[in-house]
Amino acid sequence: MNKVAIIGSGFSSLSAACYLASQGVSVDVFEKNDELGGRARIYKKDGFTFDMGPSWYWMPDVFDRFFGDFDTKTSDYYDLIRLNPSYQVVFDDDRLNMPASFSELHDLFESYESGSGAKLYKFIKQAEYNYKASMEELVYKPGQSVMELITPETVTNINQFFTNIRSNIRKLFKHPKLISILEFPVLFLGAKPENTPSFYSFMNYADLMLGTWYPMGGMHQIVKAMVSLGESHGVRYHTGSNIEKIVTSQSEVTGLVINGQRQSFDMVLSGADYRHTEQLLDLNQRMYSENYWSSRTFAPSALIYYLGFNKRIEGVQHHNLFFDEDFDEHAKEIYDDAKWPDKPLFYACFPSVTDDSVSPENCENGFLLIPLAPGLEDSEDMREKCFNGVMDRLEKHIGQSVRDSIILKRSYCVNDFKNDYNSYKGNAYGMANTLKQTAFLRPRIQSKKVKNLFFTGQLTVPGPGVPPALISGKISAQLIMKELNKRAYETV
Ligand SMILES: Cc1cc2nc3c(=O)[nH]c(=O)nc-3n(C[C@H](O)[C@H](O)[C@H](O)COP(=O)(O)OP(=O)(O)OC[C@H]3O[C@@H](n4cnc5c(N)ncnc54)[C@H](O)[C@@H]3O)c2cc1C
Repeated sequence: MNKVAIIGSGFSSLSAACYLASQGVSVDVFEKNDELGGRARIYKKDGFTFDMGPSWYWMPDVFDRFFGDFDTKTSDYYDLIRLNPSYQVVFDDDRLNMPASFSELHDLFESYESGSGAKLYKFIKQAEYNYKASMEELVYKPGQSVMELITPETVTNINQFFTNIRSNIRKLFKHPKLISILEFPVLFLGAKPENTPSFYSFMNYADLMLGTWYPMGGMHQIVKAMVSLGESHGVRYHTGSNIEKIVTSQSEVTGLVINGQRQSFDMVLSGADYRHTEQLLDLNQRMYSENYWSSRTFAPSALIYYLGFNKRIEGVQHHNLFFDEDFDEHAKEIYDDAKWPDKPLFYACFPSVTDDSVSPENCENGFLLIPLAPGLEDSEDMREKCFNGVMDRLEKHIGQSVRDSIILKRSYCVNDFKNDYNSYKGNAYGMANTLKQTAFLRPRIQSKKVKNLFFTGQLTVPGPGVPPALISGKISAQLIMKELNKRAYETV
């Protein structure tokens, strides 16, 4: 039986493990931390359960497709509910709840800008076309050749790769609040809207039409579901297992050094951060230099606070985006000047608004996220300064004091991302999807220098986010199966 080792237990690794084991491959997953799930681990304390990373469940069709590939259903594992409002956007002088229904959304747009409802319909039609072209085909390609991008859909929409989403949105809409709402989803791709091709408007379709969902119990339910699915196919999971070296012989993978012990494997797939994985190889076996990494556009890092409140908080929704300060200034501090932001936009999540199980009775579970430039010098003082700034704004907008009700507080920032995940510059969600970092222009999913070494996850194709991680695992598993089948054929 062919033995494949998988480094890391993020969504991409968990996904690949399921695909490989279901096809009869012997699979061992090695995770350095004590919990599975990678950036989607949980933090449990004093009756509170925090999802440490992702909290937005978008593109439910991608999850359905994943479980469907194993003749199972999402509903076999967790209860999924659609949030309505999808989220709240807090502006300086106004708060806006985003309705789940398109007709209400249409009316909301009209209330800000006459004629914008019809324009929204037109914009969404194009976004839907892009979504279907991407999800049915493009994002499942391994990123090995430019030819993968040449399809009837992309050829007829080629202009959408060479215009950016910001100018596209601003041609259609004039009201700054509508512009902010429409520019928000591409932030998930990790770059500024002016550096993101218009084709990525499919994120708007995901946001406004496919909706924002929540698995009851939290995002970690997806991790549990995937682990249980993998176990049913024989995957073995090992936590507390740090990979120290990828062992090779004549530039071919022969095994791993795990916590000082050597074990043999036929193939290795790494879902750990890409640059870190290459550092587990000798210098001449790495495909990408330090110059390469330092010249890429990385998705932001983040300052996160996990907060337990001893009371319910009025005026908040499950997801809240604070767009009450200037986005361009904050974007400059993330992408251009790399410094601690003065007045950052931030995101506040209160899953206990929907789900009683994540906090003790009559308490609120809060998660604050402030995007930061990767690589910033991280100190307790800077974290606290930033925390106080955003708490002032949160309290101002909800009109009540909540700081004195905090009974649990833990921060997480650049240094934690580096220490816990071996993340380059402490990035939170990998490498951005700019035009020059899309598809075949992203770090390769298969090593050109070391035989039988493969990569998966948010630094390779298709990109950052939970749905892309599920897809990335599938793509890498397909390439490994192709290699194994070729090998079996050659030995007959
Ligand atoms: C704060 C935050 C919020 C996010 N919000 C969302 C969201 O709302 N929606 C969404 O779709 N996406 C979101 N994302 C992005 C999404 O979580 C990630 O893109 C995705 O989970 C990445 O999965 P992955 O498999 O690429 O890697 P990871 O989750 O990073 O897993 C890699 C694993 O490799 C392990 N590892 C590293 N080195 C070694 C080693 N030497 N030996 C053994 N193991 C090792 C690490 O410990 C880690 O567990 C968010 C991310 C963060 C951090």
